[in-house]
Amino acid sequence: MRLSRYFLPVLREVPKEAEIVSHRLMLRAGMIRQQAAGLYSWLPLGYKVLMKIQRIVEEEQNRSGAIQLLMPTIQSAELWRESGRYDAYGKEMLRIEDRHEREFLYGPTNEEMITDIFRAYAKSYKDLPLNLYHIQWKFRDEVRPRFGTMRAREFLMKDAYSFDLDKDGAVKAYERMFVAYLRTFHRLGLTAVPMRADTGPIGGDLSHEFIVLADTGESAVFCHRDLLDKPIPGPDTDFRGDLKPIVDDWTSLYAATEEMVDMAEYEEAVPEDKRVSARGIEVGHIFYFGTKYSEPMNAKVMGPDGKEVAVHMGSYGIGPSRLAAAIIEASHDEAGIAWPVSVAPFEATVINLKVGDAACDTACGKLYEDLQAAGIDALYDDRDQAAGAKFATADLIGIPYQVVLGPRGLSSGEAEIKHRKSGERETLPIGDAVARLK
Ligand code: ATP
Ligand code: MG
Ligand code: MG
Ligand code: MG
Repeated sequence: MRLSRYFLPVLREVPKEAEIVSHRLMLRAGMIRQQAAGLYSWLPLGYKVLMKIQRIVEEEQNRSGAIQLLMPTIQSAELWRESGRYDAYGKEMLRIEDRHEREFLYGPTNEEMITDIFRAYAKSYKDLPLNLYHIQWKFRDEVRPRFGTMRAREFLMKDAYSFDLDKDGAVKAYERMFVAYLRTFHRLGLTAVPMRADTGPIGGDLSHEFIVLADTGESAVFCHRDLLDKPIPGPDTDFRGDLKPIVDDWTSLYAATEEMVDMAEYEEAVPEDKRVSARGIEVGHIFYFGTKYSEPMNAKVMGPDGKEVAVHMGSYGIGPSRLAAAIIEASHDEAGIAWPVSVAPFEATVINLKVGDAACDTACGKLYEDLQAAGIDALYDDRDQAAGAKFATADLIGIPYQVVLGPRGLSSGEAEIKHRKSGERETLPIGDAVARLK
């Protein structure tokens, strides 16, 4: 992408309404625009990040055996009356009437709808186990939408739903998601700790929240320090095998959110020098809730013994739009965002120090083309602007590698690569730059 042709509305002023750093930086970097309280447009740069996050979430869901589909944002009230949640859900649910005065709602979550899909087709234990997921916009009329996309009213969610014949099967499905989540957040460049969590209005008896530690987090959390640098299961993890040892290993160390913590238990379980009591951001949440929906909604299958049984279910959420903000909370400095390569809107940027100089334009243009040809998503700063302004933009929007080339470098045949995160700079022959970044 040539920056002169791109749509990158960078703001010079620090927007007043933004209370936390990720919100300020998302606005300044031209990633998002607020349309109304808790409603955001994703501008090109922000949308690229969101789609990269989504891709990683999809890859890890697929790897774990979950199957992607897509359900609508609007749901019929009827379905929610079946589960008994229509009235119970309260004011967070946006209720809508169509021209025929039929009642609808903008989905805050999809347990009912997926249960309806399941019961329409799955009839036998042979259809199990099954885990279906989608990535779709949700609406929750939050009392206090704030912190930009961190707590929005309309937000993107990956929600997966597992169906099993019995609790044993459902726990295995839970373990697969647990491990998939560890891998997902790790690939997003985050340290997210699974913590015992309250099961809340969805109900159930087994639940973990995945929490990223950050001072701006909305909940207080308590955990064992060793959870912060535990090795993550590799890409070769066998999701058809036994994952219980991995989950047991992670859950053997104490970690709980404020709703669940028992201070005496925490102090007993964690030696003083290993105690981390901090604030955290909920980026994912997994639940096992048994037959809470399958019973009232009649989602039953024929068991091997010929008897009908209500399926055991779990649900598993991740918030990609919240994650974009959470990643910034975890990775920024005074100059701006420092994206992990995996979700960076562009992996590298070519900074032409003298636009208009024929030799510079040719060399930078070629460098940019070569990066693209090598499969590196690159941004070419070909704007006629001062070097300082270009560096500031590159730092603000957080591109991991900045390849800098000007007349002086050109005469010595050298380019400079600046690593955004470490600030480290290296000088190398222009012809080696692409190979260095591949
Ligand atoms: P919170 O406690 O922050 O209100 P929640 O427990 O209500 O979140 P879940 O129902 O568990 O959220 O939804 C799954 C995931 O969706 C959350 O872990 C989070 O990543 C994301 N999410 C939930 N609410 C919002 C929101 N208002 N804005 C952005 N993402 C959200
Ligand atoms: Mg909530
Ligand atoms: Mg929560
Ligand atoms: Mg939750």
